[in-house]
Amino acid sequence: MKLFVANWKMHKTRGQARAFADELSARIGGGIAGAELVLAPPFTALDACADERQRWALACQNVAAEAEGAFTGEVSAAMAADAGCRYAIVGHSERRRLFAEDGPLLARKIARCREAGLTPIYCVGESGQERDAGLTATTLVRQVETLAKDPFDGPLVVAYEPVWAIGAGRAATGEDAAAARVHIAELLSSRPRLRILYGGSVSPENAAALLSQSGMDGFLVGGASLSALSFEAIARA
Ligand code: PEP
Repeated sequence: MKLFVANWKMHKTRGQARAFADELSARIGGGIAGAELVLAPPFTALDACADERQRWALACQNVAAEAEGAFTGEVSAAMAADAGCRYAIVGHSERRRLFAEDGPLLARKIARCREAGLTPIYCVGESGQERDAGLTATTLVRQVETLAKDPFDGPLVVAYEPVWAIGAGRAATGEDAAAARVHIAELLSSRPRLRILYGGSVSPENAAALLSQSGMDGFLVGGASLSALSFEAIARA
């Protein structure tokens, strides 16, 4: 089963989310064989795009590092689970870069996910500068270290998202993605329930080749997941 996660970032009102869900529902009928679909809308639209037929699951795009308390504006992992999420994106590069989220904070977020029964979709990936400096492997090692205290037998999704490829219209090559996949799989070889995704400018045009060349377990999709038509096309790839 390949896994396709739609990361909508800060897009779509509840009405727009409902319209997407209705269109996706009509397009996929009983579901897409061999494809597990996950929608990660903003918190406000989670219930608007839930599927009672369970043809897709829900993810949140972030969770609080704390379980509960005086943290104005935060949403806990338990609240996200209660709102219907099965997965949580943790450590997306936009959160690392724009909200200064670092390894120790992300380790706490992952621990909160576990307590709440959410499967983390933990994002890693080098910046353009790190890539140019030949530091891709070092960056992956550092970011994967954040998982050191995570239980070894829990289901885990790691999304390799080279920062320079996100929203750039230029995906990594299948070869580069395959190399990153092999490296991440080696670093996490003790994990029995690990899936590794690629993310960064995946489109209906490049999805099939990228999937087969990289050997990835699926994709984390940003821009191209905002349309039901292109998200479906990627999942059918
Ligand atoms: C993302 O931000 O997770 C992502 C993969 O974005 P895009 O597909 O737009 O590059």
